[in-house]
Amino acid sequence: MSFNVAIDGPAGAGKSTIAKLVAKELNFIYVDTGAMYRAIALFLLNKGISKDDEKAIADVCGEIDIEIKHADGLQQVWLNGQDVSAEIRREAVGNMASATSVYSCVREKLLSLQRDIAATQDVIMDGRDIGTCILPNAQAKIYLTASVSTRAKRRYQELCEKGVSCDLEEIKKDIEDRDYRDMHREISPLKQAEDAVLVDSSDMTIEQVVERIVEICREKK
Ligand code: C5P
Repeated sequence: MSFNVAIDGPAGAGKSTIAKLVAKELNFIYVDTGAMYRAIALFLLNKGISKDDEKAIADVCGEIDIEIKHADGLQQVWLNGQDVSAEIRREAVGNMASATSVYSCVREKLLSLQRDIAATQDVIMDGRDIGTCILPNAQAKIYLTASVSTRAKRRYQELCEKGVSCDLEEIKKDIEDRDYRDMHREISPLKQAEDAVLVDSSDMTIEQVVERIVEICREKK
């Protein structure tokens, strides 16, 4: 049987950075489910469909084909035969993903894809509803969080390093809005699974968080 690790938590908590490093340490495959929501969002943006038009979104869901591939340990996301791994990182795509991930047609489309990947391989999967909904039987579950101000500062630094001009207060507001939407949506809202271990990374280094999570996973193996 495959060994599954679920990491959930709010935007900007460092899930993907941490999960990639933990996957390397444990020799597991890292699966970033946010990237799948982003690929759907990119498709909708390219089609010019409004984030509020649930009916139009449901109508085109069948036209969307998402594939997850792995090369040199890194995840690639393919949308209808095209590698969109870089394009989905745009801020506008993230906002569209956050707005459209509330719809059942979108969530149902990704549910079986995510479960199928985890059924046959040892994975560390990150997202918002992995421990609560997608992989309720995951052997290890982590809820990774950090304060809003810590997450905003990290994002601000990341963008500054990339030479993108940005405003700290705006980033903070964006994070608060995204948290609210993720935690209050009707279907699969973000919340800590009862059997998940809480890790608050506000005052921890990346190395400390990785070490803690690897330790939790090894305890469960
Ligand atoms: O994690 P990331 O920011 O890439 O995810 C983009 C958006 O996709 C999130 O804001 C969230 O609304 C949604 N998402 C989700 N469930 C997941 C992963 C992501 O609803 N398992």
